[in-house]
Amino acid sequence: MHALKKAQTRLAELEQNLLKRSLRTTTSPCTPHPTVDGRTLKAFCSNDYLGFANHPDLIVALAEGAKLYGTGSGASHLISGHSIAHAKLEEALASLQAPFIPHARALFFCTGYLANLSAITALASLENESASSTTIYSGKLNHASLIDGVRLATAQTKANTVIFDHHDLLDLERKLASDTAALKLIVTDGVFSMDGDLAPVTELLALAEQYDALLIVDDAHGFGVLGESGCGILEALQLHSARLIYIGTLGKAAGISGAFICGESTLIEYILQKARPYIYSTATPPAIAHALLRSLQLITSAEGKQRRQQLSHLITTWQTDMVFSSWQKMSSTTAIQPIILGENKIALAVAQHLADAGYWIPAIRPPTVPAGSARLRVTFSASHTITELRELISTLQQIELTVLASNAQ
Ligand SMILES: *Cc1c(COP(=O)(O)O)cnc(C)c1O
Repeated sequence: MHALKKAQTRLAELEQNLLKRSLRTTTSPCTPHPTVDGRTLKAFCSNDYLGFANHPDLIVALAEGAKLYGTGSGASHLISGHSIAHAKLEEALASLQAPFIPHARALFFCTGYLANLSAITALASLENESASSTTIYSGKLNHASLIDGVRLATAQTKANTVIFDHHDLLDLERKLASDTAALKLIVTDGVFSMDGDLAPVTELLALAEQYDALLIVDDAHGFGVLGESGCGILEALQLHSARLIYIGTLGKAAGISGAFICGESTLIEYILQKARPYIYSTATPPAIAHALLRSLQLITSAEGKQRRQQLSHLITTWQTDMVFSSWQKMSSTTAIQPIILGENKIALAVAQHLADAGYWIPAIRPPTVPAGSARLRVTFSASHTITELRELISTLQQIELTVLASNAQ
């Protein structure tokens, strides 16, 4: 069979280029100490930033949701799958963003990937009269789901794409200033998922105001974590505009699953009418929405605040204690702290040394990150202790010495 032979060749190529990935199966809940192959590991790689993925209140809420609403939604939202649990969740999500977005309304999605595809493809279809009437400005280091959203939008509409570097806003401004398209969308991560830095959202919004654009912000790594009440990057930066389309995901800090798009209500109604991933997916089980309501309460509660404080304590400890290392770090102030190692081979070797020491921090390689910037993506959870973090740092110090010594030979 041709396809089978081709698949074998392609897999061998991946293996040869050190790009083959593999699944590891856990047999425990997601905590800083998961069990894999009968071994308990010290994990610094999940996005469970607040440690909610195994929270007793959420376990109870999910079970309660199943008792109230059963296991499945049975249909897509627009057929018969939209439950009171979804509706309440959407209201709660909208009220969290209401201080930042006038007439805020939220739509709940099965995943962040689908929310991103939906927001971009639907909004890019607003202006479909002629070629070059829409331009999508897409951040160079955006998450794959935003990139795919832009690709799908340009395939479905006549939109043009312009890639911009969030470190060079002068260049973006020049491009916006000379753009004659009627509709402009600027698309960015809020917190960059692989570098950990924040997008200059204040400056991007100013450009959006000046050049009549919409600004789509994917805050997968900010929702629950940033801002005094954990509402995310718009709260942290105290922004307010009807041009903001805010996307938060609910499988990371919120500890469960799903995502939402929040924006000015007319724009959200349009997305609801047009977004094919929304219209043609079965609604998430209402029990999940029910548990998420409880998660939102936890995020904004004193407990959520305490967990955010623990997270910032971990981040500042890392920043002050990792200074010995000559490995390149990024200027990140978030729970995502990458160590850039360059070649895939080095990143894999360091990840293996860590695994030998009982840690779980996989090497992140292209195409997730640009070629030549393979890295360890170290992430913290409020469930980590400072002692555990200090142990990781001293292990990294020893590994760095070992790697340097073996390179010198
Ligand atoms: C994880 C992630 C997504 C996808 O969200 P899911 O709910 O996991 O599908 C989207 N954008 C960014 C930046 C992410 O990190």
